[in-house]
Amino acid sequence: MPGFEIFGDEERRQVKDVLETGVLFRYGFDAARKGHWKAKTFEKELAARLNVAHCHLCSSGTAALSTALAACSVGAGDEVIVPPFTFVATIEAVLLAGAVPVFAEIDKTLCLDPEALEQCLTRRTKAVMPVHMCGSMAQIDAIADFCRRKGLVLIEDACQAVGGSFRGRALGTFGQMGCFSFDPVKTITCGEGGAVVTNDEKLYLLAEGYADHGHDHLGDDRGAEDHPIMGTNFRISELNAAVGLAQLRKLDWILERQRQYKAAIKEAMAAFDQVEFRHVPDPDGDTATFLSFMLPDETSAAETARRLAEAGVDGCFYWFANNWHYFRQWDHFRQMRSPAPLAVQLLENRPDFDKTRLPRSDAIMGRTISMLIKLSWSQEEVNQRIDKIRGVLAG
Ligand SMILES: *Cc1c(COP(=O)(O)O)cnc(C)c1O
Repeated sequence: MPGFEIFGDEERRQVKDVLETGVLFRYGFDAARKGHWKAKTFEKELAARLNVAHCHLCSSGTAALSTALAACSVGAGDEVIVPPFTFVATIEAVLLAGAVPVFAEIDKTLCLDPEALEQCLTRRTKAVMPVHMCGSMAQIDAIADFCRRKGLVLIEDACQAVGGSFRGRALGTFGQMGCFSFDPVKTITCGEGGAVVTNDEKLYLLAEGYADHGHDHLGDDRGAEDHPIMGTNFRISELNAAVGLAQLRKLDWILERQRQYKAAIKEAMAAFDQVEFRHVPDPDGDTATFLSFMLPDETSAAETARRLAEAGVDGCFYWFANNWHYFRQWDHFRQMRSPAPLAVQLLENRPDFDKTRLPRSDAIMGRTISMLIKLSWSQEEVNQRIDKIRGVLAG
């Protein structure tokens, strides 16, 4: 999965361009930068790759989520429907916006169940934020359809799914905005970085302004620019963008290799009756960063995860017991342990997250294991891995 496995001369060359000019800022310094616009070039190339009109780079995926929420006018007191299986950053961004996360059940895609959305609606529901977890997609067509019918904002957290698609359309481009992360363990990395994409020029302008203190970026005198809106600083540096640009140009190669390795491992595992694979609505659009599968029950899943680790099959995640990716272990969130009071705590009818129950999600996640697909494996290592997995599943 992670792009850091394949750093090479391409990344070094891009960073050297920036260091040789000394221009680490993404805006201005036109003469000094000698034609190097790493952030801008990345944005143009990612937008072209995803077939979307606009892209804006941010300092992180979390910053991208915050930027998208702000640009889409999701803020104080608004409710945002989210899944319980995600990296906790999704929830942090909603809370930071002053909005309220409302948890809906997931289905066997391991993503938001479109059928579970209706029952979460209230007068205050403003947005739905599905998360394309572990490189594969939600039933995004049904979710997008629901949002259109109900007049809700759709923001896709595609932080783990860059390059993925559903029926030929890039993940991240189904709603008002989509968000990506390029942190050090993602499919491609900037070191730290993220991006928002949209086909709506107005939302793009709000996003790129918001992520830079509200600057309108008109003219060539930054100090004289106007500030039509308030914002903050979620800028990426040219150094980070440079690393990401080299990585982006390797994306298709990365996806191809992951898909090849995943297919081989999946084929071997399909011979075992106790294995049920995650539902992937469009297998052609899978980024194949993980192979996720379910065992018959919680006991056999926990046991299989333990035995895979013992057999030396590294990179297997039993999320149900993981501190960062599933609601069940987020006691800090459920008890609202924050260093400072949060806006949501001032709401009169705020939900008691400690009482939130998600039995269908628990039942799925209790049975699920995800296996990382690594870029650095040789074909020989993939074969050895398959032998070890067969040994565990047969035993
Ligand atoms: C990584 C990730 C984020 C946050 O991205 P950062 O760049 O680490 O801030 C948000 N959502 C999901 C689903 C992620 O995996």
